[in-house]
Amino acid sequence: MPTPWNKLSRMPADELRALQNSNLRKFVRHLLPYSPYYREMFHKEKIEFSDIQTLEDLQRIPFTSKNDIAPTEEDRARPRKFILQPDEELIKRHAPKSQLAKILWGKLTHQDVKRQLEREFKPVHMHFTTGRTALPTPFAYSERDVELLKESGERMFNVIKVSRDLLAVNGFPYSPHLAFWLAYNALVKLGMTSLQTGGGKVMGTQKIIDAIERLKAGLLTFIPGYCYHVLRAAAEQNRDFSQVKHVVFGGERVSQGLRDKVRELLVKMGATDPKIYATYAMTEGKTAWIQCAEDSGYHLYPDLEYFEVIDKDGNRVKEGESGELVFTSLGWRGSVVVRYRTGDTCKGIEFEPCPRCGNTVPQIRPDIQRKSEIKEFHLTKVKGELVNMNNFYPLLSGVKEVDEWQVTIRKKDNDPHGLDELVLEIAPKPGVEFAALKDRLERAVYGDVGVGVKIVQGELEALLKKVGMETELKDKRIVDERPID
Ligand SMILES: [Zn+2]
Repeated sequence: MPTPWNKLSRMPADELRALQNSNLRKFVRHLLPYSPYYREMFHKEKIEFSDIQTLEDLQRIPFTSKNDIAPTEEDRARPRKFILQPDEELIKRHAPKSQLAKILWGKLTHQDVKRQLEREFKPVHMHFTTGRTALPTPFAYSERDVELLKESGERMFNVIKVSRDLLAVNGFPYSPHLAFWLAYNALVKLGMTSLQTGGGKVMGTQKIIDAIERLKAGLLTFIPGYCYHVLRAAAEQNRDFSQVKHVVFGGERVSQGLRDKVRELLVKMGATDPKIYATYAMTEGKTAWIQCAEDSGYHLYPDLEYFEVIDKDGNRVKEGESGELVFTSLGWRGSVVVRYRTGDTCKGIEFEPCPRCGNTVPQIRPDIQRKSEIKEFHLTKVKGELVNMNNFYPLLSGVKEVDEWQVTIRKKDNDPHGLDELVLEIAPKPGVEFAALKDRLERAVYGDVGVGVKIVQGELEALLKKVGMETELKDKRIVDERPID
């Protein structure tokens, strides 16, 4: 089982390294052979499982990418190859001797062994990736993994030093996705009284507002865009949110501007010095990592996973340098990935103890750039340049005068062969003069996104519907209406 967090989070760097080497060795030697995908890969690449002894050796293993895992129309069962599936033959060949001895010497009955194996390996729970480019990919958890999910969730709240006496309101939507289930399991494990609202689609914004006020909630977990929506509505009703101390965001990137807007609303409703934390997570990583302060990195769990950073050519960069994050599972069962390319880029991993909380575990530096899940925006006919649509999020969620927004990419004059056109619809805050805001935003978008945009004014209620604030799992901020070619 995992290393106790109070020990792990204080372990010196060299001991953490040794622990990771040892966990990697055990994982690759005794567990990875149960994965049909990696068995095939190692065979093809002529790598022996016992060849991988250290984190350095890991570089001999080819990367795994989303394309290797996602089901296709022809092969729907592809993700299953990533689930650890031991059988008698594989166990005899790969299980540690100590484990085999217990079975052979009759210390465990057949029933015991069967149940133990089930606990460790049988998938009992799953989450799906939410990518728009591929079919949804299931990621399986065994009973043991669910315990780890709870444990890692408890670690998360430990990093931000949450008191279990607070009351929590979980605003993540009920769905087979990581955010809700991690928050739910963590709160239960932590022993906090909590309300699982199921999000706006299930309980409705008004009832969630009532609950936060009546329960005097001290901890909120939310998707950032929806949280802002809830708080704005609550502030309009002059609600008392004075007990809110922590807001934990998940599910999407959090811009500084959005943090500022959320804090401002909370303070307006009586909260004193509320702390707003972002988490970094991916379905393939099976858990989430959190900041201990608003400007800190994301605190990792080195016994459960190993993150390396690579450059554009796929070479590992020097310690602390920036590049793409690559994830390797060390402690999980169920679906596991090795050297999984996240597509997310970071400004490096910090190995010095965290100056804010003193934890010694490595931290991914803040400002992780998530891979865009949106089709590339073809601007070749306009400027010969590709545009990163991700830049709209920090820009627009940070403008105080903008309540809600949505960007549509469409063909000019509905001509399928015409130029691409960007239309930004915004609902300004009441009392804000649209013309001046429009001018300013046009310049800001051009500066930040590098493209001209047509800005139109929208009504808040209508825009909220379009964005799907109450009906969608994730708010639809960027809509691509161009025909698929
Ligand atoms: Zn810290």
